[in-house]
Amino acid sequence: MIIQPAIGQFPRRSIVKSLILLTIIIFSCNFSFAYNINYTFINKTDAPKPYIHVIISFKTANQRTTQLNLPSGWVNQTELYNCIKNIKCETENTSIDTTENKAHLLLNATENTQITLSYDLISDFEGDISNRKYFRPIIKADCFYFLGVNGLIIPETIKTDKLTVSLNWKGFNKTTLVNSFGTGQVNEKITTDYNRFHAAVFAGGNLRLQPVINKTHHILVAVYGKFAFSDDSLNRIVDKIITNEHDFWDDHDYPYFLVTAFPCRNAGGGTGYTNSFSIFYEPQLKMEDGLIKLLYHECFHKWNGQKIDPGDGGEFTCKWFIEGFTDYYAEKLSIDNKLQSQEDYVKYINNLLNVLYISPKRNADNRQIEELKYTDPDIYNLPYVRGPLFALLCNNQMMRETKGKYNLDNVMREILRLGEQGKPFTLDMFLKAIAKFDPMSTIPEQLNQIIINGRDFNLNDLFDHDRYSINYKDVTVVDPGFDFNLTQKSKKIIGLKNGSNAEKAGLKEGMEGQVTSYWSNDATKAIKVQVKQDNTLKTITYFPNPVKPIRVPYITKI
Ligand SMILES: [Zn+2]
Repeated sequence: MIIQPAIGQFPRRSIVKSLILLTIIIFSCNFSFAYNINYTFINKTDAPKPYIHVIISFKTANQRTTQLNLPSGWVNQTELYNCIKNIKCETENTSIDTTENKAHLLLNATENTQITLSYDLISDFEGDISNRKYFRPIIKADCFYFLGVNGLIIPETIKTDKLTVSLNWKGFNKTTLVNSFGTGQVNEKITTDYNRFHAAVFAGGNLRLQPVINKTHHILVAVYGKFAFSDDSLNRIVDKIITNEHDFWDDHDYPYFLVTAFPCRNAGGGTGYTNSFSIFYEPQLKMEDGLIKLLYHECFHKWNGQKIDPGDGGEFTCKWFIEGFTDYYAEKLSIDNKLQSQEDYVKYINNLLNVLYISPKRNADNRQIEELKYTDPDIYNLPYVRGPLFALLCNNQMMRETKGKYNLDNVMREILRLGEQGKPFTLDMFLKAIAKFDPMSTIPEQLNQIIINGRDFNLNDLFDHDRYSINYKDVTVVDPGFDFNLTQKSKKIIGLKNGSNAEKAGLKEGMEGQVTSYWSNDATKAIKVQVKQDNTLKTITYFPNPVKPIRVPYITKI
């Protein structure tokens, strides 16, 4: 079943790409003293409802109340505290109070005292991993996968940049224990900081591990379940991609890197975490159907997003760069290294143009992206579309303006150099890096027009006219007859239009329902909405109302 995002129609191979949720974790550190904390994980995955019993031990600070932070929201997932059960304080003369915020508990205990707490970590969904469930803890009878951000109770006091964490694993198969800091250890002590611990991956169980070790890096690929390709071919491609990207950045300082791969139905995706990235991919798809691009994209975030980091609050302000430029380079590097063809490049660009031009939020400015964040899928997706096209523009403008002496690659490496000095990525940093190689560039003005203010691209600036011609086609977008985004979010029909085909088919305002199939620019494909009437689920199927065609550019190779 295909749920088509409202931003446009993608060929099937691009659905995975379009749904990539690449996520950079940015949190602030408020303290700078060293802090010790112990987590012991006890395997209870043989229970009827599998879980992991977690024991936390830490010393309270010089105060009688300590805030305990439970997992809450992560990407588009909410109420992650539902995966935390049976919280107990194991130390005498201490108590835990709830607060109005379900993600915050208050621990009452003597100052400077060693405290032990325990809780059970469970999955709050049943069955296969599908849609975005992989942002929630996965605790199954035969495997587990969770993150610092979605599976751990973390005392507020450990938000420090000097953190020592002891991890103890009891009852687990030692040989398949993996995390962002190492592998195969039941007792380990890591020195890290809060941000990296919060963004760490922890996994184990029936994982097939294969280390890929060469002179530049130590990669561990951990695979769960079956895919349409072999573990060996996945390992080889991961090795090639990581090597390509180390070479691009001229950076070989990665002693350990974990890649996890899990099958996922419907909407795959990937996310970069501490020393690792996680891939969730449809088991029947070939690698060429999106995985290669996804791997290039995820790996690129080790630099663009982590070493080049917009810092606290900058994630959405700079998403055009962190996500958009990463996606541009994922495409470029896969073509440069012959894992995709020039024809794939043309398809990629034409898909971006198509999605941008039919987007109802095509001219949204950067402030709207900052403000609306995850709440509007069209806005959320915009930097993934506008950003790579702007990267292409920058590259071509620099090549033209410097007569081929410099291109965007030089700028990226300069920004990395500045990022490694600890400076957060900003618009100013981007412009300074451009000016270093192309002092009279027109790019600053274009940045202001296109990225900041949401104006259209001048297509003549985007493409090399000796290689590509620009053409136009009319694309008919369709109207589902109600507000698609609000309906999907609220699981109720919202904004039903009088006289629409949706109304004629039997949908009613406020009716419980969710769209299960919708192609936003194909009037020949029926919309399917699963609704609940009289406690019975049924599917209402109808053809959407076509609306005025939109003129969309596309390129052809000369
Ligand atoms: Zn990304």
